[in-house]
Amino acid sequence: MSLTYDELLAAITTPGGREVRDPATGEVIGAVADSDPADVAAAIATAKAAQPGWAATPDARRRALLHEAADAIEADAEALALLLSREQGKPLNGPNARFEVGACAAWLRATAETPIEPEVVVDDGTTYAELHYRPVGVVGAITPWNWPMMIAIWQIAPALRMGNAVVAKPSEHTTLSGLALVHVLDSVLPAGVLVPITGAGEAGAALAASPEIDKIMFTGSTATGRRIVESTAANLPRLTLELGGNDAGIVLADADPKAIAEGLFWGAFINTGQTCAALKRLYVHDSIYDEVVAELAAFAAGVPMGVGTDEANVLGPLQNAMQFDIVDRLVEAAKADGARVVLGGEPDRAAAGYFYPTTIVADIDPAAALVVEEQFGPALPVVRYADLEDALAHANALDAGLGASVWSSDRARAREVAARLQAGTVWINSHGGVDPRIPFGGVKASGYGLEFGVDGLKAVAVPQVVNG
Ligand code: NAD
Repeated sequence: MSLTYDELLAAITTPGGREVRDPATGEVIGAVADSDPADVAAAIATAKAAQPGWAATPDARRRALLHEAADAIEADAEALALLLSREQGKPLNGPNARFEVGACAAWLRATAETPIEPEVVVDDGTTYAELHYRPVGVVGAITPWNWPMMIAIWQIAPALRMGNAVVAKPSEHTTLSGLALVHVLDSVLPAGVLVPITGAGEAGAALAASPEIDKIMFTGSTATGRRIVESTAANLPRLTLELGGNDAGIVLADADPKAIAEGLFWGAFINTGQTCAALKRLYVHDSIYDEVVAELAAFAAGVPMGVGTDEANVLGPLQNAMQFDIVDRLVEAAKADGARVVLGGEPDRAAAGYFYPTTIVADIDPAAALVVEEQFGPALPVVRYADLEDALAHANALDAGLGASVWSSDRARAREVAARLQAGTVWINSHGGVDPRIPFGGVKASGYGLEFGVDGLKAVAVPQVVNG
């Protein structure tokens, strides 16, 4: 049976708790109670008690339950999407709230169907050794506010599939979305295998530092990733760290500006730029620079931004004031430095809601803050280059190494350039697409460990060799 929006909200809101506001309008939409240290400890104890029974449940049954969880999400999809839109700000339509809820169901199903078998490592007549993947135990799942349901599923689904229990902590900025997702999943899962906690950094730190936690799956900023490494040093839970990115795209001289404009746009502006592996700095060859900028700006100017519950919009507000201020500061600094604002750049600071207009900044210094800092919003800097070696040097100069892209009409040439980029994924003629069958993870300060596919399942298991 499907829930209405009001029923879903009533199940997860705590009257009298911290107010949650719609970032597009400022309206209060609900309230949450933040977990205190005793709540965190109780949640971990509940998960720990449930985990052995879950680990003993046959894999076929766990897989069937992941499919049932996907069914439950599909049944409640409209209520989940509306809540996500109202709390996160992303529109219902476009690659946004409905798309995100659909991806949650798709990821659960793909995770259920990913084969994982013991591997025979040696079988030479004398020695026989197999590698098995056993449950880790209790997994702490800590998520950011940009894709609050989908990123949570990326952590929860493989962890459950491999026989672990999960304590999930959504971002304090999107707590209701996280609680709503867990509420729907828990309608089909055995009690205690998936337990939510709420709160900000203190709750996350308490989870990471707990001696009862065996693995932390963390997605968020590099600064917080470093704190998690510190707070886990005493107990050594396993870590998967998906951290900040500042993805470069390089447009080669042979690219077709008109053909690539739409792909460049969505690579940079999906989720209004608030995406880990979005295109955050674009390097374009001088010979086609003006044409690429003009085509991109022309496409961008036609993409509607506004309140997410209006079906016409496909770009929304920034999720919070802090992120608005970061984007505003970076664009203002670029302007002061003489960069050319081709589109946007003038937010209505008096408006209700954290709307920052779609912004393209051309003829910008490659060392400008808007280029070298992660903007995480709808403001793309476009840098001109003449020598590909310079573009590669700029692309690889930063600490970040999540994604990158190469744009060219010559696939072989693009693949040669891709091989020289320091990033966990390099896309050719697109940017940012993820797939539950394809491993995803960062290099350098964008983190370590892989999610998705069989590598993602192994990441939430402990290897055990059976020798003999
Ligand atoms: P954030 O690091 O501020 O917060 C992420 C989560 O960590 C939140 O739940 C927060 O409460 C929690 N947290 C904060 N301090 C903590 C601590 N000391 N110990 C444990 N948990 C703590 O990140 P954010 O602002 O929510 O998200 C934006 C960032 O996330 C961007 O840098 C973006 O690039 C990155 N991101 C990366 C990926 C990826 O897959 N690599 C995906 C999405 C977002």
